[in-house]
Amino acid sequence: MSHNDKVVECLQQLVALPSVNPEHTRDPEIANEFRVAEFLAEYLSGKGFQIEWDRATPERPNLIASYGPAAPVRTLLLEAHTDTVGVEGMVISPFDPRIENGRLHGRGSCDTKGPMAAALCALTPERLERLAQAGVRILFVGAFGEEKGNLGAERLVEQGVGADAAIILEPTDLNVVHAHKGALWVELTLSGELAHSSEPTKGLNAINAMADLLGWLQTRIAADCERHGDAALGSPTLNVGRIEGGMAINIVPHHCRVEIDRRIVPGESPDDFLQPLEQQLEQMKLEGRIRAYTLKIIKAGMPFITDPAAPLVCQLRQAIESSGRPAEVTTAAWYSDAGAFGMTCKEVVVFGPGSIAQAHTKDEYIDIEELIAGQQVLEQFLDAFAEPTS
Ligand SMILES: [Zn+2]
Repeated sequence: MSHNDKVVECLQQLVALPSVNPEHTRDPEIANEFRVAEFLAEYLSGKGFQIEWDRATPERPNLIASYGPAAPVRTLLLEAHTDTVGVEGMVISPFDPRIENGRLHGRGSCDTKGPMAAALCALTPERLERLAQAGVRILFVGAFGEEKGNLGAERLVEQGVGADAAIILEPTDLNVVHAHKGALWVELTLSGELAHSSEPTKGLNAINAMADLLGWLQTRIAADCERHGDAALGSPTLNVGRIEGGMAINIVPHHCRVEIDRRIVPGESPDDFLQPLEQQLEQMKLEGRIRAYTLKIIKAGMPFITDPAAPLVCQLRQAIESSGRPAEVTTAAWYSDAGAFGMTCKEVVVFGPGSIAQAHTKDEYIDIEELIAGQQVLEQFLDAFAEPTS
């Protein structure tokens, strides 16, 4: 079997193991991440890695595999999430990894089992030994629950899992992503008072109150955009993605709920958004425009930013260029586990073969040539990482 066939076969094995995020399916046959985590454990222990488990539940483990000296000169963390999104509406067989026209199809082939396979196959015994000789300890992390709240990565970061340098494996078209915004998701519910619609003044209309609040939020985000902004990442953003409320056309609604996605730039904290919002809600309560409110944080994902001149970025850029490709150092509009690992790792980038345009799609695939190139870039990078730094 040639070098290249191995990464294709490895990816086929990974795609054939369903690992749908349980928030994205009700089918127990395909839900949860344990099958992929067990594959990783077997694969990596076969290469001499030590395996550690961190289990949120038996079906949803984090895997931490390590190789190299216990007292390392440097540590390098390679991380891939083990979950995929759901399979509803797919027009291909999600777990039957078929190859057609140079593309490998299947759920997760691009996001993020392709980048995962490229990294696994780059970790050959000889390369691992060279890295260990150079005092480098490698941590390979398989984290559950990225597709809904980055749960696994956040658990690991709370436990202090970190490194000097980290590559978060995601499809970036083989570009180096050195920064992305944070994602703060909140659910906000306003309570009013029921009444018959023929006498609206006898009730307290929660939908009207929400309309006022949404207007206030728009003014607020415009001000936040003027105050905060990042040269690389641009302005913060706000999106009200869901709204529900009311019972019937002839009832004054006593309840209205929205879900808000507020993207945070470096220099902002979740409290910069939440505190003024709470003050405004208290004010509305005081003025009798609502009876009560609840504000629930679904996720508070931090932004991450690594200096584009940092050694990790430069080494990865050189590895891409030496594989004969143009190396773009860029930012991303999406969110990833890099937000969490930015808290415990000195330098973090997101990198991998495959295009984000193919992630989560009804016919998800990865270009095989790019998959192989991804492995080659990671090999070059790891060899450079094993060189002593001056
Ligand atoms: Zn992903």
